[in-house]
Amino acid sequence: MKKSEMKPFKEMLVQLRARLRGNVSTLADAALAKSGGTGGGSGSAVPSHIADMGSDTYEQDNTLRLMDNEGEVLGQIEGALERIEDGDYGSCVECSGRIPKMRLKAIPYTPYCVKCASEIESSSRY
Ligand SMILES: [Zn+2]
Repeated sequence: MKKSEMKPFKEMLVQLRARLRGNVSTLADAALAKSGGTGGGSGSAVPSHIADMGSDTYEQDNTLRLMDNEGEVLGQIEGALERIEDGDYGSCVECSGRIPKMRLKAIPYTPYCVKCASEIESSSRY
């Protein structure tokens, strides 16, 4: 892909990265605040307190998992930006095939063509 063709993708990636970074830190703050303050009740209603704790833990778990995914996407965005700098952007890192522009517009940070992505996805699943 020509450098001039990469430019709009680079802008998309930079914007996406900024948005994700904002999200990740917000989520981290929320998760942190949650683990810090459990309850504050006097302990009069023990059963409901335990139930509350359970749902809190579950929610926190979800938040952290979401953060994990976003961290992964952030890593892919960084990689894509590096490939733009190297002039390799738009080529599959697995088979060096061309990644269709349609796909890059949908997932600008993807390092794989459709074929490799589906192969990797199916092999990483159990
Ligand atoms: Zn490929």
